[in-house]
Amino acid sequence: MKIQAINGFKDILPDQMLLWRRIEHTAAEVFQRFGMREIRVPLMEKTELFVRSIGEATDVVEKEMYTFSEKKTTMRPEATASIMRAFIEHGMHVQQPVQRLFTIGPMFRHERPQKGRLRQFHQLDAEIVGATEPQVDAELIAMGQLILDELGLSTSLEINSLGCQECRPPYRRKLISFLEEQREELCEDCRRRTHKNPLRVLDCKKTACKTIAHQAPSLLEDLCEGCSSHFAQVQEGLDALEIPFTLNRFMVRGLDYYTQTTFEFLTADLGAQAAVGAGGRYDGLIEQLGGPALPGIGFAMGIERLALLMEQNAEEPLEQQTDIFLAALGEQAPQPCSRLIHQLRKDGLKAAMDYSGRSLKAQMKQANRCHARFVLIIGDSELEQQQGVLRNMQSQEQQSFPLTGSPQEQSQSLLRLLQL
Ligand code: ATP
Ligand code: MG
Repeated sequence: MKIQAINGFKDILPDQMLLWRRIEHTAAEVFQRFGMREIRVPLMEKTELFVRSIGEATDVVEKEMYTFSEKKTTMRPEATASIMRAFIEHGMHVQQPVQRLFTIGPMFRHERPQKGRLRQFHQLDAEIVGATEPQVDAELIAMGQLILDELGLSTSLEINSLGCQECRPPYRRKLISFLEEQREELCEDCRRRTHKNPLRVLDCKKTACKTIAHQAPSLLEDLCEGCSSHFAQVQEGLDALEIPFTLNRFMVRGLDYYTQTTFEFLTADLGAQAAVGAGGRYDGLIEQLGGPALPGIGFAMGIERLALLMEQNAEEPLEQQTDIFLAALGEQAPQPCSRLIHQLRKDGLKAAMDYSGRSLKAQMKQANRCHARFVLIIGDSELEQQQGVLRNMQSQEQQSFPLTGSPQEQSQSLLRLLQL
């Protein structure tokens, strides 16, 4: 019996990795343009961290976490809580009042695996801690939009506001009484959540609950003055940056810590997995985790979903190139070739060779398979005459290449020739 990977846990194969690297590299580069600094946090945390931050009556905490109950630890289902834990633990606010942080890595949620929905998935995650200004919300959203633009993806942006400690409680009461009236139509989970966490009902994926959610009162109409003005300024900020968006009065997001601005980047091209990225403000979270009363805002994008969209759009799949392939023929050639190839690699070239002494035809095939731009053919007779044959694989042109001098000297002259 072969052992296979666990359902929902997937290998990212070499053919896909170039695309993944491109996504990660583009994101990291854009993040840095916005002054974001990278942080890496552990894959496991105390379970309590996620329960306290994400919220007890959420899908993530109720159903999706990989928890080792006896050890009271959990594989992280998202990165914000861990980053805030680290932020507090290292007193990062003392060092710099506004911290701009990003991380890239795997998250774990026990969901039903489908296209674009895995149990181990990967996120690009951005957090700005310590700034309340609505311009920062707009700037953060603009940063997410720029990543998507630079990856050549067209998505739509929806935004909403979830209010604050002041305006959410009265809205909550209003929502509960509305949901009470609809109790018969709600799914079992939502009935249970009506009192515990009524906002979650608005996020339920069941058709019946969705219909009810669309008739529910929206918090947007009941925002307090502060939240209402903040939200208006976020919208002005987005307009000023020419970032198109629509309002979605029913977007509540799946994590409890959100306040005020929330947003999602959506696609119509991944079926039920519509969100490529999402985020929002979490002004009470740091305090709730025992830290200073500092505001924060962030987002996360799913790399699998970005990769799927890019594969769907791809003109040409990305392939790893080789600068030069050394075709060592006969018995004598492999040894000097192995010295030369190591020097080429030290000098920064992507170089490949084969030690098996196979036929020229077989080695040329291999050179093609690794997308070599040049092949240097060195057989016994070439060694004898101290002249290799350098072939440009694109133009098919050949020239002789002197095999005299040290590997360093040969490498330098190859570098000059290949640059042409
Ligand atoms: P969804 O509604 O699709 O379940 P979510 O609201 O649970 O998403 P967030 O917690 O906001 O997602 O995570 C941010 C992003 O991470 C999502 O927009 C999505 O691109 C990605 N993501 C979340 N869960 C998964 C998963 N199980 N598999 C792959 N990507 C995921
Ligand atoms: Mg989810």
